[in-house]
Amino acid sequence: MTQVIGGFAALDLHPNILAAVIATGYEEPSAIQLQAIPVILAGHDMIGQAQTGTGKTAAFALPILSRIDPTKRQPQALILAPTRELALQVATAFETYAKQMPGLNVIAVYGGAPMGPQLKAIRNGAQVVVATPGRLVDHLRRDEKVLSTIQHLVLDEADEMLKLGFMDDLEVIFKAMPETRQTVLFSATLPHSIRTIAEKHLREPKHVRIETKTQTVTAIEQAHLLVHADQKHAAVLRLLEVEEFDALIAFVRTKQATLDLAAVLEARGYKAAALNGDIAQNQRERVIESLKDGRLDIVVATDVAARGLDVPRITHVMNVDMPYDPESYVHRIGRTGRAGRTGRALLLVTPRERRMLQVIERVTGQKVSEVRLPDGQQVLDARIKKLTSSLAPLVADAEASHGELLDRLTAEIGCSPRALAAALLRKATNGQALTLAEVEREQPLVPTSAPRERSERSSERSDRGDSRERRAPVPLAEGRARCRTALGARDGIAAKNLLGAILNEGGLVREAIGRIQVRESFSLVELPEDGLERLLSKLKDTRVGGKPLKLRRYRED
Ligand code: AMP
Repeated sequence: MTQVIGGFAALDLHPNILAAVIATGYEEPSAIQLQAIPVILAGHDMIGQAQTGTGKTAAFALPILSRIDPTKRQPQALILAPTRELALQVATAFETYAKQMPGLNVIAVYGGAPMGPQLKAIRNGAQVVVATPGRLVDHLRRDEKVLSTIQHLVLDEADEMLKLGFMDDLEVIFKAMPETRQTVLFSATLPHSIRTIAEKHLREPKHVRIETKTQTVTAIEQAHLLVHADQKHAAVLRLLEVEEFDALIAFVRTKQATLDLAAVLEARGYKAAALNGDIAQNQRERVIESLKDGRLDIVVATDVAARGLDVPRITHVMNVDMPYDPESYVHRIGRTGRAGRTGRALLLVTPRERRMLQVIERVTGQKVSEVRLPDGQQVLDARIKKLTSSLAPLVADAEASHGELLDRLTAEIGCSPRALAAALLRKATNGQALTLAEVEREQPLVPTSAPRERSERSSERSDRGDSRERRAPVPLAEGRARCRTALGARDGIAAKNLLGAILNEGGLVREAIGRIQVRESFSLVELPEDGLERLLSKLKDTRVGGKPLKLRRYRED
């Protein structure tokens, strides 16, 4: 699909950056990328109003990487992010897009890790520095020249940085950079404080935001489910069990994701196929025909590949990955509810994408109600309901045709009709889990977070260089209170999820939060004693992984 690759190709990115983008599997630029990339490439200062999920990271990473000179071994671009998690995420994105740029190095600089190696990497000529403001200021105290060669500065999630109290640090950082630098500011909201920063530190900035015209969607019932990124496949499988769909289209962002999800669904026995920009036209037509006539029930597609797809059988649209903008959302869900029928649209939302959900609600003027992940009992009930409805029509005349055979078989085997019926059911259901215990064993919710969480915690400890801590119990540090939530590993929670939620919604700095212990059915978090009641009331409506956090002071006795 050359005209699609043309989407990125027309943007004038450095050829090696373009090659990496194509290798990543992106099919076309998102709305914010289309608008921001030319502005940043042209060297303008810019204010971008965009939230997570719009593709904003690539919107600044791609043009900035295109303008960096990898032969110069000195810091050229600085990206400031409010939290360690976001800094790491942005650094990883830069690394991905710079894969085909030999000599280009990226360093993430954040608190909680030793300073020495970070400073060394900067001095050794990492051209891109991604940092949290607090830690960067610590570095500036050691070496005030460390930012003297920066030509591009990005403030990512500027509103969040101010909420976390980084205003003073930002001022120190601005002063340490050449005035001739380009400055790009991204923020989901533009409160007065952000506008003040922009007036003071940006030069004739261009404004970029996604147009959010009101869109109408009718006859489509919309719902969302909060889920962590690494649980999406498990969540999709559960939803599919309870949703009564005829045909369904699942939207993801990359070609690879279409293949991965289609493979997972096929392995579960669904008639599913992938549809992406790499699939040849005749094969694409075959997939659509199969969806029309029922040889396929699920198609996993990218936005590009699903363009123009019109199959009246589609009763459900599942947005497995968030669309880049409300307009694509409206487009996607318009694949259902055709020919006057009602359709259902489901949207998986990761905690960081909640703002995007609000934008969608505002633009469509409709509430996208929340659904919870079906539990084992609901999955079981749905399976039994399906079994009932497949067997019920067979019962009516079965006795007349097979009654005698039944008598003979029970006599020959020497068993009751009930025993024989049970044996036939076992055969017919082909090993499917049909008791609660079996269903729960079959659908473990978080296949990936347990080992990751362990390594995260152990690395946190080794940062502090205290290997004795490895075996709890750990004494509580002075000034800290231990709090408990009923969310644990079995809810799919990892330490980083709790940390992210508390940082973002509690307005704390990373250093204020102590140890986080995630157990099977609960978790413990160390928080500052000072102001604890206020903090807990601030967090009273916070949800993690779609469930209420309900953090309470924990008394061990
Ligand atoms: P962001 O809004 O920057 O947090 O990006 C959200 C996600 O979208 C990330 O996982 C990116 O890898 C992905 N992404 C960004 N741009 C594109 C694109 N043009 N096509 C497909 N995926 C993209």
